[in-house]
Amino acid sequence: MEWYRAAPEMHYAVRQKPFQRCFQNCLPMSHEFELIDWIRGRVTPHPRVDVGIGDDAAVMAAPFKPVQTLVTVDMLMEGVDFLLPDASGRRIGHKALAVNLSDIAAMAGRPVAAFVSVALPRRGGMQLAQEIQQGIQTLAAQFDVALPGGDTNTWDGPLVISIMVHGEPTGRGPVLRSGAKVGDWIMATGAFGGSIHGRHLDFVPRLNEAETLNKCVALNAMLDVSDGLVADLRHILEESHVGAVLDLDAVPISPDVSKGTDKRSPLEHALSDGEDFELLFTVSPAEGARLLASPPFSTRLTHLGEITAGGELLFRNVTGELQPAPVMGWKHGFQ
Ligand code: ADP
Ligand code: MG
Repeated sequence: MEWYRAAPEMHYAVRQKPFQRCFQNCLPMSHEFELIDWIRGRVTPHPRVDVGIGDDAAVMAAPFKPVQTLVTVDMLMEGVDFLLPDASGRRIGHKALAVNLSDIAAMAGRPVAAFVSVALPRRGGMQLAQEIQQGIQTLAAQFDVALPGGDTNTWDGPLVISIMVHGEPTGRGPVLRSGAKVGDWIMATGAFGGSIHGRHLDFVPRLNEAETLNKCVALNAMLDVSDGLVADLRHILEESHVGAVLDLDAVPISPDVSKGTDKRSPLEHALSDGEDFELLFTVSPAEGARLLASPPFSTRLTHLGEITAGGELLFRNVTGELQPAPVMGWKHGFQ
């Protein structure tokens, strides 16, 4: 929110109403700069941040050798990604950072810094912002992520929070969606379905698992499951120009699916619910078998099926019958 500070008279003449509203709501008592000062006092110094909160842009220390940078951004909107007051500010802050860290994990990267932009409701926004910040900082500390800047706005609308994360590659480099090879095993961490009952707000991004996998085996393709297992598997297939057979009886179903009351089966939930934030990846059969024989971490690992030639996704049931997979999963739509 720069315009009222730079030349308020001009803006007053041109945009009388917005100026009056902003002047009344931004300056007295409780305003963005108080909040920024509060955040600034709590953010811990980080070796990669030369200049953090307080200037026009952060100055980050470059890594020692020229390496690639991973950059991702994700926005959460009240009413779509969480409901207030069902979710506390802390959990919303946690989720807002966690979804971005999950995207860095999906590339087998290591997060370095997160930049937080918020549109806060004027009513109650200050306290909400402080709770959100606590959720962000706790998770940032867990994964050594710097918080060198952001943007704070207030308005009469709902809460919107967008975080951009910078990261760096690990091990064998970034893992893309486009590298799946015919014959690869399809594998996943964790279990699927029912995240709506709370896990979508509290999950821990699979950063450690992704980095370990990238060290132990040659990951041919990987992503984090945010739109649903089937929908996201299709993303790998499309980017890699391959097909797949998914073994339905192998799909690990989260116990969370039983918390719902609708008529869809546990398997349907596991295949189509969004926001599991598990890793879905493909490796050669030899590497896959090695992972299952001696798992490098305690998080569950499952072999879900195989990559095939052609573009089709087929479901294989317990008797070995194949059928085309239906369209499933979450999309942001337009009207
Ligand atoms: P400008 O008007 O030049 O864009 P701002 O007044 O928006 O600057 O921000 C002042 C400083 O506070 C900047 O360093 C910015 O990165 C930081 N900042 C603003 N909001 C946040 C936030 N929610 N979290 C962390 N840093 C923030
Ligand atoms: Mg500026």
